[in-house]
Amino acid sequence: MKPARFSYTDPTALDDVTALLAQLGAEAKLLAGGQSLMPVLNMRLSRTDYLIDLNRVSELDYVEGADGVVKIGALSRHDGLFNAGLIVQACPLLFKAIPHIGHTAIRYRGTAGGSLVHADPSAELPAVMCALDAELTLTSSKGKRVVPASEFFLTYFTTAIAPEEVLTELSVPVAPRHAGSAVVELARRHGDFAIAGVAAMLTASEGRVDAARLCAFGVDEVPRRLTEVERMVAGEMLSPELLAEAAECATSLVEPETDMHASASYRREMTGVLTRRALEEAFDDSSTSRGAD
Ligand code: FAD
Repeated sequence: MKPARFSYTDPTALDDVTALLAQLGAEAKLLAGGQSLMPVLNMRLSRTDYLIDLNRVSELDYVEGADGVVKIGALSRHDGLFNAGLIVQACPLLFKAIPHIGHTAIRYRGTAGGSLVHADPSAELPAVMCALDAELTLTSSKGKRVVPASEFFLTYFTTAIAPEEVLTELSVPVAPRHAGSAVVELARRHGDFAIAGVAAMLTASEGRVDAARLCAFGVDEVPRRLTEVERMVAGEMLSPELLAEAAECATSLVEPETDMHASASYRREMTGVLTRRALEEAFDDSSTSRGAD
């Protein structure tokens, strides 16, 4: 199918994008990698009068380190992030999540900003941003505001961004030295969206977890931080009994739905299984990881 007719423009400056959005508001849509937007326009599940293409706004494509934070421009492609030395070193959880996103061609085109604004609850990057307490900068012609990732995702495919705003930057705290991380997920085939998944990062010393961060995806309307599990394992050794308790706890923290891929009860059960695996894998990784302070 072909999309409904729309006007198209491809400005080169962010100021021009925000000026257009101030004028057009919800009548316009932004195009980044197009990996989610073009299918829904082509299938006419959505339509727009005006398409503003961000691909020539090169000021939105960067990865920089500053004051314990990695700043990622919203137009950074998944593949570019995977190959950025700073991401490998300072954001190992993000680095590990990227190979789970679709296939090579999708990762060449898809962007970090597009993935977050699209807000598919089965997507990896929203969960990683919530696990890492990242902050998102939203820019309009009136200025900027910063929203914690934990407050950005409101429900299925819905975020706190306003029609006149552009997501311009992701600020991700640098991982502590020797942090271990893991992204574990169940998908029908590699590259498919997750049926259930868990992203985890933890620090450990003398055989005990110091602090852990876990976020489940594909099992609720938004990425779900597993804070009770985080509290449960802090200061503890990951014994088989504690891992079983953590898994049980995780199943109680999510509200999955049934769809054509899996039932709600299966997704809930898998959240427990994947929480245990993510904790074990991140713990093992913590002894070898070289995250920068
Ligand atoms: P687009 O499709 O261009 O835009 C998506 C939405 O975000 C649109 O509403 C657009 O207006 C808005 N938008 C984009 N950028 C901005 C911005 N800077 N500010 C404000 N609004 C903006 N993703 C996964 O996470 N995991 C997967 O396993 C996965 N598998 C996939 C498999 C297939 C076959 C395909 C086609 C896609 C898959 N994806 C997957 C999606 C992929 O990651 C997309 O790249 C991503 O969801 C959207 O990014 P994009 O840059 O293509 O955004």
